[in-house]
Amino acid sequence: MPKGLVVIDKERCKGCGLCIEACPLGVLGFSGEYNSSGYNVATMVHPEKCTGCAICAQVCPDVAIEVYRLEAEKKEVA
Ligand code: SF4
Repeated sequence: MPKGLVVIDKERCKGCGLCIEACPLGVLGFSGEYNSSGYNVATMVHPEKCTGCAICAQVCPDVAIEVYRLEAEKKEVA
């Protein structure tokens, strides 16, 4: 299963929580960190569970989320 990395633009996030609700694996949550507009921004609270499916980015109305898929480490076979 691929690993994902979610990058959230803190200044674009308005803390609506749509991404948190949409993530099927409970990866995202509120950070408790407030941006310059006073919004409690989302963050990865369980990054180890992220598959990189990008549902969170699709539902974000402010285009604040970028998702990267990380390649699995290749194992050398001797
Ligand atoms: Fe959840 Fe998918 Fe977004 Fe990862 S990419 S945080 S699994 S919705």
